[in-house]
Amino acid sequence: MNEQTLQLAGIVQNSIVDGPGIRLTLFTQGCPHHCPGCHNPETHPFEGGTPTTTEELMARVADDPLLGGITFSGGEPFCQAAALAPFARWCKERGLETAAYSGYTFEQLLSLKEDENVAALLASLDILIDGPFLIEQRSLELRFRGSRNQRTVDVPASLAAGTAVLDRSERWNGPEGA
Ligand code: SF4
Repeated sequence: MNEQTLQLAGIVQNSIVDGPGIRLTLFTQGCPHHCPGCHNPETHPFEGGTPTTTEELMARVADDPLLGGITFSGGEPFCQAAALAPFARWCKERGLETAAYSGYTFEQLLSLKEDENVAALLASLDILIDGPFLIEQRSLELRFRGSRNQRTVDVPASLAAGTAVLDRSERWNGPEGA
């Protein structure tokens, strides 16, 4: 894998709040969505963040046998798809579950498929939590989502079907389901 550099607002090595199990979470710097009530406004500017190489991130993954998955959060991860896609693929090949949050919907990302980096990142994901955070639909009952409009998308099934297929598993959605 060619080394790439990401602009990151933060890294959490052993997160238990960004998906099931123990995960490495990357908060990407830069977001075009500006959702009112966003919890991470410091991630909005595209200037700033800490340059981080994928080599450094691979070392973090290799050094942590407890990791079960990786989550890309933001910021808007798809604004750094060129660097994230090969890293996500590398993680997936090692058995990690790959997930991303995005302010774009699955349908919007599909419509960007002429952007080969967006398509490659999508193809490297197991789960996509999609759509903007809508404060009027905020709910604290949702396990890993912030607002009810957001969906837990099973990405491989959705790409195969050509339409969004939701993951309704308890591990992602809690006992009440999606
Ligand atoms: S997409 Fe996420 S990071 Fe961007 S403004 Fe909305 S909630 Fe915040």
